[in-house]
Parts: sequence; structure tokens; C-alpha cells
Amino acid sequence: MTDVLTQSQTQSWQQDDAEHHLHPFGDSGAIAREGARIMTRAKGVHIWDSTGKVYLDAFAGLWCVNLGYGREELVEAAARQMRELPYYNLFFKTATPPVVELAKALAEVAPSHINHTFFVGSGSEANDTVLRMVRRYWDLKGKPSRKTIIGRENGYHGSTVAGASLGGMKPMHAQGDLPIPGVAHIRQPYWFGEGGDMDPDEFGLVAARALEDKILELGPENVGAFIAEPIQGAGGIIIPPDTYWPEIQRIVHEYDLLLVVDEVICGFGRTGEWFGSDTFHLTPDFMPIAKGLSSGYLPIGGVMVADRVAEVFKAEGDDFNHGFTYSGHPVCAAVALENLRILRSERIIETVKTTTAPYLQSQLNTLADHPLVGEVRGIGMLGAIELVEDKASRRRYAGNGRAGTLCRDFALEQGLILRATGDTMLMSPPLVIAPEEIDELVTKTRHALDLTLEALK
Ligand SMILES: *Cc1c(COP(=O)(O)O)cnc(C)c1O
Repeated sequence: MTDVLTQSQTQSWQQDDAEHHLHPFGDSGAIAREGARIMTRAKGVHIWDSTGKVYLDAFAGLWCVNLGYGREELVEAAARQMRELPYYNLFFKTATPPVVELAKALAEVAPSHINHTFFVGSGSEANDTVLRMVRRYWDLKGKPSRKTIIGRENGYHGSTVAGASLGGMKPMHAQGDLPIPGVAHIRQPYWFGEGGDMDPDEFGLVAARALEDKILELGPENVGAFIAEPIQGAGGIIIPPDTYWPEIQRIVHEYDLLLVVDEVICGFGRTGEWFGSDTFHLTPDFMPIAKGLSSGYLPIGGVMVADRVAEVFKAEGDDFNHGFTYSGHPVCAAVALENLRILRSERIIETVKTTTAPYLQSQLNTLADHPLVGEVRGIGMLGAIELVEDKASRRRYAGNGRAGTLCRDFALEQGLILRATGDTMLMSPPLVIAPEEIDELVTKTRHALDLTLEALK
């Protein structure tokens, strides 16, 4: 009886979805024909769809549910703040208690030279804000020609006009005449895909020096900033070779660029440190943050700003004409503050670093000798598996991502949510995943690889 009810309820949701909902990053026509998967509830690292099927969410929603689902403290923090003050803005000389407390807490966990945050509603808004702040900074410094920002091919910085322009996703650029003027791109440090015969360290230097070449091509007097993720997330969990970031830092320093380190995924423990900048010893001028800031429970983002930049903004004696109605929304800020409190009091990032991440990585590495696997790489609670037809030459299967799609769908069938970018399988589980859940994740991944190999034969 309940099954029949569940079925008819699912069909009715799918029909309403088909008739009234346009999907982000999806083919709404195809989804309307196939029926959307309707997710209804979740707890810990598991999520249920409307048919009652349970999945291990090895993607933490969309790289964001760092504390896992169902944390009552976050629900309570939101309810408390909603009763007290559900909304007020930060424009015109105003602040609210959760916002100032959150700004202070962020300064405590960020690298020591970063002590200010500008709040926004998302990672994309954070990067729009970065673009405006970089240009404003150079105006205030009396160097208005330094307007161009250099990003990377296959980088991801969000989906607004500025975010998608700073990012280097070709399918996004192809829709909407992007990038906007004043944005340039260099190659990515993706050794497995583009390193050819070079060894990774050699390739890392080559990829970094593309920045210097681009600066010289554009003229150093015209370049304001370089933006990059510490580890490319959406691009395929691309961990740069060890030589890459030190060389980038040298170049950024030599040409006096602002360094924007997009921490939207890496921030808040994903790599086993508070920030990717800690992992790679970076000294950013700007750190866009979002996702794990609130564990995804409510939308909030920010731009963390280094002291040397904040000083310039504070000294200008004029308004910064930028902000959002929901900049530092008090309910979102209260949830983010509680999220930070839990991360600290339960020592979650320390546990990731010393215990669960090493376990995840060692278990993932047992997949390296699977015939379909060309490389397993990871750090902290990030893992990527490259699917190939030939291991030695790193040659892919024909079909442009067909192997990845097959593997993702076989994983789903068994109740495991992975993501596929081309033929690269990605995972980014909640930071609180337990060792036995890691076992479940790896066992199901292995099974999905077996089924994929079989299907490709
Ligand atoms: C997700 C993401 C963004 C965009 O964040 P939204 O909240 O989706 O706007 C920006 N940068 C990186 C690195 C991301 O992963």
C-alpha cells in the first residue's frame, strides 16, 4: 500500500517538475522525459529518494555538506536567529551580531594575514565581488590600467557572468558570449591529462610559467590579479604537481599581482587543513569562500581579504558601491557560525587529517590496480579516479565521457553517489564520514568499476 502511494507521489512530483521546473546544469527536456530523481530526506552521509532508495552521498551534496546531514544544532541556530531577527541588511553603516561574530571567527581560523570578510550569498557572488574589488583596489592605488584578471582553462569560479568568465569552462563560455573583456586564461596544471612525456614536477613548472608568459604578453602594467582554486574541483579534482604553486607564487610576487585563491571547495577542512592555502602554503590577497562555510545548510559566501588590501579599502574615504540584499543574511550567518563552532569543538578537521583522510586515501589506492583505472589521486576528503582503456599511455576510451557516465550510473544503482567529469570519477564525501562508511564507499566504487569494465567490452 505505501509502495503504491510512494510511487504515485513520485510520479506526481516528477510530472510537476517536468511541467514547471527548469534545471540548473541539466537538459530540462531530457529530464522531463526521464523523470527527475526526487530527494526527500537525509541523515549523516546517507540520503533517500522519494522511492525510499538510500544512497551514500560521496559528494556531500555539491561539495558542501561538510558536517553531514541532520545536525540539529544547525537547525536550532537558524530557528533561534529567525525568532530573534530574521532579516536585516548591512548597508548604510549597519551590522548584526551573527555577522560580526562570524567575521571574527573567520579571522581566527584563516591564515594570519587575513582578518576581514565581505559577505555575499554564494561562491559566484564572491567571485563577482572579487572582480570588482580587484579593479577598485588598483584604481585606489593609482594604477587603473591593471584591470585584467588571469584565470585558468577548466577552472571553476561559479556561474554568474563574472564567475563563469573567470572560470575556464568552455561549455559555459559557449553560452552567453563569455568571457567578458578583461579576463584571460592560461593552461591548467593537469598532469594526467596534459602532461604528456614530462614528469609531473617538470610539467608543474611549465604550467606555472604559462602565467609569466601571459603577463608579458598582456603587459604587466595591465594585469591586476591571478585567480585559481588550490585544487581544481569541478574541473576534475586536479591536484597540481608540487612544483606548481611555489612557481606561481614567485611569479605573482615578481609582477606584483593580487593573488585570488578560490577556497569555495577547499575551505573549511576539505583538504585536512582549514584552507587549501594552508595545505599549499599560499598567501592569498583574496579568498572567496562559500559551500562548506555553512555545510550547505543555508546559502552564504564571502570574500576574505588580506590586511594589505583591507587597509586600502578602509583608507579610501569613499563608499564601495557594491553589496547584496542578502549580504551577511543573519540567519545564514548564525548557521555558519554554529558550523564553525562544531568544526572546532569536535576537532573535525584534525580527525580528517590524522585519521579518516589517510584511511580514505589508502582504501582508494587499493583501486589503482583495477584494469580500468589509470590513476587514483586524492588529498583530505577529495578523491579522483581516472578511467582509461590503456594504463601505460593513459589513453581514454572512445565516446567522450561514456565510461564515466556508465560508472556513475552503476554506482547510483548500487546506492552510491559519485560524480563523473568526462572519464574522471570524483568524490568529496562529508568530512564526518566514518571508517565503515568509507569501506562501503570503496566497495561500491570497486563494484561500479567492475560493471563498467564489463559494459565497455
Ligand atoms: C561551487 C564553486 C563556486 C560557485 O559557488 P556557487 O555557490 O555555486 O555560486 C565558485 N568557486 C568554486 C571553486 C566552486 O567550487
